[in-house]
Amino acid sequence: MKPSDFDALRQGMVRRQLAKRGVQDERVLAAMAKVPRHLFVPSQSRSEAYEDCPLSIGHGQTISQPYMVASMTEALALNRKDRVLEVGTGSGYQTAVLAELVDKVYTVERIKTLSDSARVVLDSLGLSERVGMRVGDGTSGWADMAPFDAILVTAGAPGVPSPLLAQLSPGGCLVIPVGAKQMQRIEIHRRDLSGELTKESSTSCRFVNLVGRHGWPKGE
Ligand code: SAH
Repeated sequence: MKPSDFDALRQGMVRRQLAKRGVQDERVLAAMAKVPRHLFVPSQSRSEAYEDCPLSIGHGQTISQPYMVASMTEALALNRKDRVLEVGTGSGYQTAVLAELVDKVYTVERIKTLSDSARVVLDSLGLSERVGMRVGDGTSGWADMAPFDAILVTAGAPGVPSPLLAQLSPGGCLVIPVGAKQMQRIEIHRRDLSGELTKESSTSCRFVNLVGRHGWPKGE
C-alpha cells in the first residue's frame, strides 16, 4: 500500500468510526487524522490498521481500538499545557495522539521490548522530545514527575490504583478501565479544585490486564 492509501483509510476511520459515533472534540479528531496508526502495528497487520478493532502487538498485548483511544482522550479534555501520564505505552500510538495535544506526556510500560519499539516510532515521527518514557510498574504512577493534570490508563484494572489518585492535580482527570479481567467499564475520576473526588462510569470495554502492585497479580 502507498502512503496516500493509508491517508485515505485514516480519514475514513476518523469520519466513520469516530465523528459519526459521537466523538466531537475537533482537536482529538485532528490528532487522530494526523498520527499514522499503521506505523504502530506489526508490518503484517498494516493493511488492517484503520479498521474498527484492537490489533495484536505481540507479548499478548494489543493496540487499542481507535474509538476507545478517541473517547478516552476526549474525556480528558486536555489543554496544551497539561502534564499527562499514560500507564501502558504498548505500541506508543495513544502516546503519539496525546503528544499531538499537549506539550509533555509521561508514559510507563512494564514490557521493555514494547517500550523500546514505541520509542523508535515516536522518534521517527519527531515526537520523542515531548514524551518521557519509563519501563516499570505504572500502577505506582511516576512519583518524580507528579502531579499530573490528566492520567490515562490503557489496561484494565481491578480497581483504581491509589497512587494514581494521589498523583492527580486539583482540577485533574483520571480515565481508567475498571472491572473484571474479561470486561470493564471506563471510569472517569475528577479531582475538583478543593481536592474532592467524583466518579463517573462510562461505556463498557475490554482491555488487556493492568498487571502490577496496584493492579492484577502477575501470572494469574
Ligand atoms: N496505549 C497502548 C495500549 C497497549 S495495551 C497502545 O496504544 O498501544 C496496554 C499496555 O499496558 C500493554 O502494553 C501492557 O504491557 C501494559 N501494562 C500492563 N500493566 C502495566 C503496568 N502495571 N505498568 C505499565 N504498563 C502496563
